[in-house]
Amino acid sequence: MAATSPSATRAASAAAGQSVPLLRCFVDGAWVETGRRFDNVNPVDGRVVSRVCEADRQTVDAAIQAARRASRGIWARQGAVERAAALRRIADGIEGRFDDFVAAEVGDTGRPVHQARSLDVARGIANFRSFADLIATAGSEMFEGTAADGAKVLNYVTRKPLGVVGVISPWNLPLLLLTWKVAPALAMGNCVVAKPSEETPSSATLLAEVIEAAGLPPGVFNLVHGFGPDSAGQFLSTSPHIDAITFTGESRTGSTIMKAAAEGVKEVSFELGGKNAAVVFADADFDAAVAGVLRSSFTNSGQVCLCSERVYVERPIFERFVAALAAGCEKLRLDYPDAPGVDMGPLVSHTHRDKVLSYYALAREEGATVVCGGGVPSFGDERDQGAYVQPTIFTGLPDSARCMREEIFGPVCHVSPFDSEEEAVARVNDSAYGLAGCVWTTNLSRAHRVAAQFETGIVWVNTWFTRDLRTPFGGAKLSGLGREGGRYSLDFYSEISNICIKI
Ligand code: NAD
Repeated sequence: MAATSPSATRAASAAAGQSVPLLRCFVDGAWVETGRRFDNVNPVDGRVVSRVCEADRQTVDAAIQAARRASRGIWARQGAVERAAALRRIADGIEGRFDDFVAAEVGDTGRPVHQARSLDVARGIANFRSFADLIATAGSEMFEGTAADGAKVLNYVTRKPLGVVGVISPWNLPLLLLTWKVAPALAMGNCVVAKPSEETPSSATLLAEVIEAAGLPPGVFNLVHGFGPDSAGQFLSTSPHIDAITFTGESRTGSTIMKAAAEGVKEVSFELGGKNAAVVFADADFDAAVAGVLRSSFTNSGQVCLCSERVYVERPIFERFVAALAAGCEKLRLDYPDAPGVDMGPLVSHTHRDKVLSYYALAREEGATVVCGGGVPSFGDERDQGAYVQPTIFTGLPDSARCMREEIFGPVCHVSPFDSEEEAVARVNDSAYGLAGCVWTTNLSRAHRVAAQFETGIVWVNTWFTRDLRTPFGGAKLSGLGREGGRYSLDFYSEISNICIKI
């Protein structure tokens, strides 16, 4: 991607009289224009980066019907080796257009270019490759037994595609989270209707182009753009003609989708919100813990479901830790996505910025001390119109405060002291959410003991966001339902049958 500031891009486009691209839906192997359009806006400077065709109910229904037809065709009947080859063609296709995908992610979200390269697009490719590897090597379980008459029986397990899978994804890691679901769904022979977030439609559109070029049969992958309620998201998730829905987003939205899915007893997989905690013991490697908490609280401007918004630090090192964390936080560089050394871009939108700022105000009302940040930065140029907020550290709130219980989803953490291991575990678990937790300690026994007690789907010890795609990923409590990753994804995206043969 050329290292041009958005203002330069905008000026060049205006000078050239260029109109913005129109992003269409992809249905039954064809690109479809719809009558309703919405703007896709860059959060750095408010420029419109594309116009997007919003799918109406007929378009969503047509996509579901196309997926249904395709689910009865060659794709679902192909062997795993052929499907793995198709997934690898898709991975190669993303890699071949790497810079286009980076530009799409950066244009929609304002995130640093280096992050889009090393995390978002790299993981998009890895998602397809890892599920290709998995299905190419996965075998089947077999159980030998004896029938009532003493004859030998052989049980084996088959996996059939579910049929039509609806995929609804959020804006915070657009390509990564969309492909985390599309890749295993396709791997198991399903056909997909995907609805990306209205905030981030660009990389999903490129993905549809790549899948088209990879030669998948029409209808195997369909893309519908639009919003949630009264729009494409609702039309897809409430359709009686899908077989399963896999969703990543807010817990409240998950609950709404689950009610609709209950009507038809559909399979659901949910990756939802979090209010994650990091616990730093006095015996931790101090510098590693400070650097780790900085990462876990401020990566992607705090817009990762796994970010630590609650940090508990053992009292003997509390003051020193807060000072070191604040020093690190103040050094974080907010800038254009392509600026050298940039750490943080803006939030995804002004709407989201207003939500995060309302929590900064609420924290003050609830009695928090602002250690650093707490407002909007002042650049003295067009970035002042962007959706930037300062990375922020609070102290002094009780665990009962709303800011300690509700997900803020911005570059913010609250640091509290604790006095015992039991207290730390109890406070971490005193949450409606249960997605991820971090433990920072050099005591191995304590690491195992504490990790085992966290009521979360994921626990990291002395690290954060280190992912092996074969491991189960998901949350407890309000943070989700089911697990995805490796064979856990294969379980969700297939109908498992037992075949019993009397020999
Ligand atoms: P969101 O729930 O507002 O939207 C997510 C998607 O659902 C979007 O595509 C949206 O258009 C659609 N949608 C909204 N309402 C809908 C409805 N009534 N019916 C059908 N579809 C609907 O979430 P968001 O703001 O895009 O994403 C941020 C949230 O996602 C945070 O809570 C974050 O923690 C969570 N998240 C969780 C994980 C995880 O793995 N657990 C990963 C990333 C993000």
